[in-house]
Amino acid sequence: MPVPTSRPVAFVGAGPGSADLLTLRALRLVAAADVVIHDRLVGPEILALARPGAQLVAAGKKGFGPATPQEAINALLTGHALSGARVVRLKGGDPVVFGRLDEEIAALEAAGLAFEIVPGITAASAAAAAIGQSLTRRGRNSGIRLLTGHDMQGFADHDWRALARPGEVAAIYMGKRAARFLQGRLLMHGADRATPVTVVENAACPDERVIATTLDRLPADLGAAALTGPALTFLGLAPRAARAHAATMTRELA
Ligand code: SAH
Repeated sequence: MPVPTSRPVAFVGAGPGSADLLTLRALRLVAAADVVIHDRLVGPEILALARPGAQLVAAGKKGFGPATPQEAINALLTGHALSGARVVRLKGGDPVVFGRLDEEIAALEAAGLAFEIVPGITAASAAAAAIGQSLTRRGRNSGIRLLTGHDMQGFADHDWRALARPGEVAAIYMGKRAARFLQGRLLMHGADRATPVTVVENAACPDERVIATTLDRLPADLGAAALTGPALTFLGLAPRAARAHAATMTRELA
């Protein structure tokens, strides 16, 4: 039973980084919040949309780096919600994609608190737009997998045989450090060395970068690129040349 005095905690998708890719609902909730608990992917441009006086709390994880323990995040959420504050839990991209949403929902449910989820633009969508490609195409791939490069056990295991098939498309989140591992597993399961692989760093942000490579050259090209921002790796997708060019031109003209 929800506690009658508390408002639902809103899990809000912040999208890939640019404030103009927030939904109107996200904007409305962030602007009205008393407390915004955000992860590290949410930048200052979006946090500036909170009202003056709102409490901004950074709580999140960064790859293999420093992390706020999940229990601490759960305690923050339930504590503020029980005090009657309007709480927004702001997550990069879409909260339903690799957002550790279930653990936080479980904590709210255990405290008898209600919640709502506001979807956002996930990194795979932003990265596909950046390279002028569709995530699915008739005759090429009738489905796409969203994968993580690593999980709690280390580099994540997947159905490598299926992924190695020609025409497969996968969007790999948190894949930078797993590049050599992914390459090894896929080649071991028969993938073509020439399979296109595209890495999009800071998709849909002003500092977006696209690295178009192949499975064969992935670790070397990724190493040379020395990426520092979040990056989405597409297996089986190459940038559409003309569109990528047009996008570069648009940015240069802007
Ligand atoms: N919920 C998020 C994903 C969180 S996992 C979403 O829906 O997008 C974090 C990973 O998302 C990063 O390691 C990176 O792989 C990817 N990511 C998030 N924002 C990105 C961006 N702007 N450009 C490229 N990849 C991004």
